[in-house]
Amino acid sequence: MSWLDDLDDDEPEFDESSVRVRPNPKANRPRTKRRPAHEDARIARVLGVDRGRYTVLVDEDGPDEHLVLAVRARELRRTPIVTGDRVRVVGDTSGAEGTLARIVGVEERTSLLRRSADDTDQVERIIVANADQMLIVVAAADPEPRERLVDRYLVAALDAGIRPLLVVTKTDLADPQPFLRHFEGLDLAVFTSAKGEMPLERIGAALAGHATVFVGHSGVGKSTLVNALVPDANRATGHVNVVTGRGRHTSSSTVSLRYVGAAGRGWVIDTPGVRSFGLGHVDRANILKAFTDLAEIAQECPRGCTHLPDAPDCAIVEAVAEGRLGPTGAGRLDSLQRLLATFADRA
Ligand code: GDP
Ligand code: ZN
Repeated sequence: MSWLDDLDDDEPEFDESSVRVRPNPKANRPRTKRRPAHEDARIARVLGVDRGRYTVLVDEDGPDEHLVLAVRARELRRTPIVTGDRVRVVGDTSGAEGTLARIVGVEERTSLLRRSADDTDQVERIIVANADQMLIVVAAADPEPRERLVDRYLVAALDAGIRPLLVVTKTDLADPQPFLRHFEGLDLAVFTSAKGEMPLERIGAALAGHATVFVGHSGVGKSTLVNALVPDANRATGHVNVVTGRGRHTSSSTVSLRYVGAAGRGWVIDTPGVRSFGLGHVDRANILKAFTDLAEIAQECPRGCTHLPDAPDCAIVEAVAEGRLGPTGAGRLDSLQRLLATFADRA
């Protein structure tokens, strides 16, 4: 797909001009020529945003599926609309060159991946909407894998109700096992390359039928992986060519790319290397929820229990000590405590 190439750098930023939205008291009235424009709205998926212009896919999987460039209507000026959102578009939705449709509404989201600039900053930024999986890419070396960063991704995913997956690249450079040991207590699908080959088929099977947001520190090989999974993605690898500037769009914005594989289709949502992953918005209860059996036992915890090692009378700590959670109990409690501590020590 080359729609990114169609976005012209030098165009001024578009915005909504003069369209008014009237409430529609008779939603079910018969269609007439004088109907408000919104009754014509089509549902579309936001694939990417570039300085106020949204590339959306209309009639997804239908006979009239096509890309449309759109701006958001004035009344939505303060509404965040992000990659993955399902929106209602009106106006010229032909997608013909030079046309611009209008986004007049955002459908209810099934998930929201958010981050704050840092842990004390409560202002949240939305990264992607409606993703149901997060694929975390780390390198076995170059750059060194950082367990704390992965923990933060995990916390963000679990908080958003998104299933995490882990891919380890560059296993030709180092053995990933010592690093992976940190995550043994988690219900986490892990994919590692063998003899320098990525298990693309197995990863693809995990992508089919899902919207998966890819996250990873810059340099880990995320773009290489995305390009291997989505051959026409053209994600810039290595670094930006400073002469042509090629790849600047692709590395600075979040885009949805269609995955098509033997196991089916899905969406790969590629994010730029996320530098900070503040967790100021995260709710402790959401992390616990991801550990189903531990969450059940936590109901017997004292009110306000942190479930951390120093928590008095923590029911989970006691259950693990008594061996009631089986051989993996201690490992899982460990993981839970590490994730809880990740954002508990925020200022
Ligand atoms: P991104 O910043 O995460 O998108 O990383 P890139 O995909 O641009 O990759 C960064 C560098 O790592 C590039 O030079 C890649 O060729 C290299 N790379 C990617 N995957 C592997 C791998 O499995 N093994 C090795 N040795 N290098 C890799
Ligand atoms: Zn507890």
